[in-house]
Amino acid sequence: MSISTSVLSDLLQALTYLRPQIYFKASLTALSHAMEDQVLAATMEQPLVIANFQRERFYRQEAHRYQRLAQISNQVYVLSAPETGFSSSSEYYEKVAFEPQDALSQEWHLVVIAFNYATCLVCREYPASILKREMSPETPSLDMDTARRFEGIWTAERGVSLKAADLLLDKILIYRPELAEKIEQARQRFGIGENYSQKVIDEKSEYACDIDTNPFVQRLVTYLQASQYKLHKAYRSIAAQARKERLVNSISTAIRRSLNPREVLEVAVQELGQNLAASRCLIYRAQRADTNAVIEHEFRSSGVLSLLGKTRELQKNPIFQEVVETGEGVCVTDTLEDSRVANSPEVADFVKSFSIRSWLMEPVWFQGRMLGIIELQYCGDKPHEWQAGEQDLVKAIAISVGAALIQAEAYANLEDFNQQLEALDRTRSNLIAITGHELRTPLSTIQVCLESLATEPDMPLELREVMLSTALSDSERMRKLIQDFLTLSNLESGRIEWHPETLTLQECVDLAISRINARTNIESLPKVSAEISENLPLVRADGDWLVEVLAKLMDNACKFTPPEGEITIKAIRNENQMVEVTVADTGRGIEPNRLEIVFDRFYQEEGALRRTTGGTGLGLAICRQIVIGWGGQIWAESSGKDKGSKFHFTVPSIEGSQEERLFAAVRK
Ligand code: ADP
Repeated sequence: MSISTSVLSDLLQALTYLRPQIYFKASLTALSHAMEDQVLAATMEQPLVIANFQRERFYRQEAHRYQRLAQISNQVYVLSAPETGFSSSSEYYEKVAFEPQDALSQEWHLVVIAFNYATCLVCREYPASILKREMSPETPSLDMDTARRFEGIWTAERGVSLKAADLLLDKILIYRPELAEKIEQARQRFGIGENYSQKVIDEKSEYACDIDTNPFVQRLVTYLQASQYKLHKAYRSIAAQARKERLVNSISTAIRRSLNPREVLEVAVQELGQNLAASRCLIYRAQRADTNAVIEHEFRSSGVLSLLGKTRELQKNPIFQEVVETGEGVCVTDTLEDSRVANSPEVADFVKSFSIRSWLMEPVWFQGRMLGIIELQYCGDKPHEWQAGEQDLVKAIAISVGAALIQAEAYANLEDFNQQLEALDRTRSNLIAITGHELRTPLSTIQVCLESLATEPDMPLELREVMLSTALSDSERMRKLIQDFLTLSNLESGRIEWHPETLTLQECVDLAISRINARTNIESLPKVSAEISENLPLVRADGDWLVEVLAKLMDNACKFTPPEGEITIKAIRNENQMVEVTVADTGRGIEPNRLEIVFDRFYQEEGALRRTTGGTGLGLAICRQIVIGWGGQIWAESSGKDKGSKFHFTVPSIEGSQEERLFAAVRK
């Protein structure tokens, strides 16, 4: 029984002068409500009301209004395609359930015919907007619903309204033939249809047009206001979304552009602080069990005290603890009213000292691991009023920050790994060098000596002793070489653990001198003297390694200086607040073009084979690694051959107080 002809088409065909217009769904809702309100406002007469809702779900939204309309008139007809419970019946008003395939299901109609006014709305929904609606019938989004568009007629022209009523009543009759009598009454009463139209024209003068447009207009304005408000809200949420996307984008761009976590976090802290108009925005590393954290990145509005570089206690901070326990951000809306703040003297003190009124602590997570914290602090006279979406924005940034921190960590690990590989490669080439050259020579000597001793039993005793002592001294040289080689490899690969301590230089010099004296024949040594001022600041370095450097430099000075020469150890405080130590000798000196390469591995001026003084050629390379290890510098100075040499190196100093010096002196 489905009817495929459209009421709108029929109407346009009948009244060819009509020009259909485009209406948005919101406009039709406003017009329909205004028309219904007009009926509700004029209770004296019983108008004819015919409303087609397309679908049951649209009807349901208005069902209660139609019950009220039914109290005013007994000529109310409601049409809809059934979805769940809608069926043809006569309860409060006449319900007409039409076939879902009926063209009525694509049209929106409302016709009101009274004696003194008539209005009608006859529209057809655009196919594209129906398609969208069908695609997501369960959750029509705000956008889709508001985008629904209709084409048709809205008018208060009586002739048009009567024609529309005529067409609709015909359709109702098809679905509800039992209503023929009631429909006929309506036609008769309001002059609907060809049989009565003449009567209407004849009696037209009886219809005084005293329509009260007030409720109609007011309703329209209310609806316009409401849709304006909705639009405003939608704009606000779009703006918030755009702001969020821009922020997240700028931080993601920073992550893509740089592997330097400091740079990325600096961008994040500045952007977030500025965008959320915070008094202070902080980002710092903190793990669940950390007892305190150092504030590494800060955004601060003008006139606000800085927290940058300050250490924050975490374990006694109930807000941090709540973040750890819940894994979620914690917001203190007003620090003056918050019990967590009031119950923790430390936090209360902190809040007061830094004038914090509102406070948000958001954790930075990555794959279940807490990496850090983002904090927003507001220091105004009143608590901060959080805008919708602001805290979500901080959460979104926290995700980006987490990715940046992990990326930086991975990069640092990779760097570390690369350095280890490089060190391994250096050790390997050292090993090739040492086995290929430095070890082969003494090993061959030892082999020749031992073979001669084994094959020539009649060898004279003196020669035998020479052979033995040569083999022994070369094996000792090999031992030293391997020891120095291992030390250098460990230093170069960073496998050394440093134990920095506060020392007086004098005690290290004394130890180094006594070590030289213990292993060398004192008579063959040049005179060694140390000139170290009492006022020299204390040094901060690993004591064992400092003595090692001094001993190696003194050992070299002794080796390359005749017994009648002199060796002097001096120390001053240089302009960089470091202690500069100089080991000077009056020995054979170094050619100016060799001053740099003497620090290279296995460098020896006369070559290993012609060496008279012993040594491995690794001593200065070891010294350089040690000095670099504590952040100092080492360099050689000499005016040339036989002009003596000076080796300088620097050690970090501390501005030792009187007590510290005393303490160091007592230990000595
Ligand atoms: P070595 O074990 O051969 O002393 P080093 O690395 O300590 O190895 O020294 C490398 C080379 O630098 C020495 O062989 C020597 O030629 C030169 N050298 C080091 N110290 C002095 C010095 N005080 N006077 C002259 N030459 C020096």
